[in-house]
Amino acid sequence: MKWYFLFSLLVLGAVLRIESRILKSRDFSNVQANTFESGRATPDLQGITSADEEDEEVDEEILTNSIKKTPFVTPTRVKTNFVPLTPAKRVKPQPVRQEDPASCKLSPELVKEIASYQNVTRLIMKTVLNGAFKNRTYDDLSFFIDKFGSRITGSSNLEDSIDFMLAKMKDDDLENVHGEDVLVPHWIRGKESAELLAPRRKRIPVVGLGYTVGTPADGIVAEVLVVKTFQELRDRADEAKGKIIVFNEEYTTYGESVEYRGNGAIEAAKVGGLASLVRSVTPFSINSPHTGMQDYEQNVTQIPNACITVEDAQYLQRCQDRGWRIVLQLKMADFSLPLSKSRNVVGEIVGRDSPKEVVVVSGHIDSWDIGDGAMDDAGGAFISAEALALLKFLKLKPKRTLRSILWTGEEFGLIGVQQYVNQHRNELDQFNAVFESDIGTFDPLGLDFSGSAKAGCIVQEVLKLLEPINATMFRALPEVGSDIGFFIQKGVPGLSLNNKNSQYFWYHHSGGDTMTVESADSLDLCLVVWATTSYVLADLSVPLPRN
Ligand SMILES: [Zn+2]
Repeated sequence: MKWYFLFSLLVLGAVLRIESRILKSRDFSNVQANTFESGRATPDLQGITSADEEDEEVDEEILTNSIKKTPFVTPTRVKTNFVPLTPAKRVKPQPVRQEDPASCKLSPELVKEIASYQNVTRLIMKTVLNGAFKNRTYDDLSFFIDKFGSRITGSSNLEDSIDFMLAKMKDDDLENVHGEDVLVPHWIRGKESAELLAPRRKRIPVVGLGYTVGTPADGIVAEVLVVKTFQELRDRADEAKGKIIVFNEEYTTYGESVEYRGNGAIEAAKVGGLASLVRSVTPFSINSPHTGMQDYEQNVTQIPNACITVEDAQYLQRCQDRGWRIVLQLKMADFSLPLSKSRNVVGEIVGRDSPKEVVVVSGHIDSWDIGDGAMDDAGGAFISAEALALLKFLKLKPKRTLRSILWTGEEFGLIGVQQYVNQHRNELDQFNAVFESDIGTFDPLGLDFSGSAKAGCIVQEVLKLLEPINATMFRALPEVGSDIGFFIQKGVPGLSLNNKNSQYFWYHHSGGDTMTVESADSLDLCLVVWATTSYVLADLSVPLPRN
């Protein structure tokens, strides 16, 4: 088979070179449609994931055939003995202690040097808000979203979208554009359904949570126990055995409430529950399920775990409070395949004086599968690629290297970044700052920062350049970002885009995460913040001091 692959690669290479030239016109609409569809053999398993399709037998057949056709996965269906990365590796890094940056005493020379970037800032603003880059981020992002849609880890959508971004970075003349291989989980959403059988018949929308196992083929029919907290579950442990456990936790903050999504199946299994249904982690709902990752624990039975809507969780609570018997039928055909290959996307502007010193701007390219992942996190990924495209367009070459990285496998437990940090561990002391945008690209307010007090003072001063667009807010926090937490733990100063994202969790991980949430003007403003601050930090005479 080797000659065949070599030949395919040569053809694909030639096609990509031709396409790259055509792409210079920036009219993606005709060109891209053919580029990435012809060369890849991976079947699109996304097509069989809809929870609404009716014919179960057909699903099964398509699935089996799809798996047989793909050359990238072992053609066996792994149901329960799949071991993802160890849970300990998939949790967020611990917060780092933060010094108080209140008393800044920067030298007058440094203050003057930072202020001298006003001309560059003005040029960036002019180009993005009124010039060649006006609305470009939105236009390219919407093309990307409309073409690829959701990009769940392990899918051909994701790999095709990675090919697209690599081609786009090359087209924008970034340097050292390449993908870095990452092994990612390959979890498959099968057909999912739930029907309430008592106290009345009612369809309950369910969406399986990442890594969940499925139910037996004919489903689980069981009584339901609704609890509001893990403590209530433990208190009522003797009622829980053999039941489907519904968690109707209050939404307080995302960080707090998400514990129920992450650990619901573990806690339910510990008291003998057959399955876990978790109220979606959102402060606002129009009957929309919000998915996300969940965990299993060693030596605890892996039970099916799905999210339900806020409305249904509250309804089931009211039924139980009235003393009504609740019976539910749950069917889920979710399962995991062996790890598959994905890539972190990397492109650079090589530094003119200190090329080994690096400032990173980043977002993640993968997404959940039930929306389009426009907000989480294609917006963040796009401003991170566009920032370098813009600086390249303006022929601005900083002292240090500016590197754009689009992480893969974020949603399944920060997989891409962990492999990156591990592979580049010997270079990390040369990393000067790491930016991440993964909490929305609404109107920007400024930057959240984690690092030494002295470094915070410099960032604060740099933010003053953004006064014309009113994005000067500086917040020093113990923990910023999700992917970049691993860099911060190693002492690299971290920066996260602070934006008017009070409605972020309305859309997060739901069918509502589409282009409709994004705004061209907001993306332009975010791009100004991203390009200006990353450029100045990469170009300053002094590096950001570490803890
Ligand atoms: Zn995200």
